[in-house]
Amino acid sequence: MDATSSKGMDESACVFCLIAEGKREAAVVYEDDSMMVFMDKYPISNGHTLVIPKKHYTTILEMESKDVCMLFTLAHRIAKAAVVAVDAQGFSIAQNNGKVAHQVVPHVHVHIVPRSINEERGKWPSRRTATMEELRSIAGKIRQHLLNDNNNSATTMDVELITD
Ligand SMILES: [Zn+2]
Repeated sequence: MDATSSKGMDESACVFCLIAEGKREAAVVYEDDSMMVFMDKYPISNGHTLVIPKKHYTTILEMESKDVCMLFTLAHRIAKAAVVAVDAQGFSIAQNNGKVAHQVVPHVHVHIVPRSINEERGKWPSRRTATMEELRSIAGKIRQHLLNDNNNSATTMDVELITD
């Protein structure tokens, strides 16, 4: 980090900032100038995806409304693609703010958790550690469905897809 950087110590050590800067490995689904989408390394379910703003904010209260809109508009698009990609019957969206709300990484992120009828009824599935290979494979499938949706989507959001 150079001396002219405006980033504080907390941000330079932030794992999601490192992923956003391409300095740490992640199974990336989507990226544009301000947002990034990648697979959760400790998925609650198959297809558990995270949507983050590239800029470091600890909670969404630090963000401007228009940026929150962009974040959740993208979450909506990703959710559509993710549920089809993993053949889920539903999904949960979670966005935790603060330690008391079980926010683990102090950088704003939206969880998209596909839910399946195969889950044990009434139980929130527990997290596990996934391999990068497995995550990249699912990321590829979600990306493909994002591409498909792009052709007939009503949204005007500018989507730049990453090709490996
Ligand atoms: Zn960060």
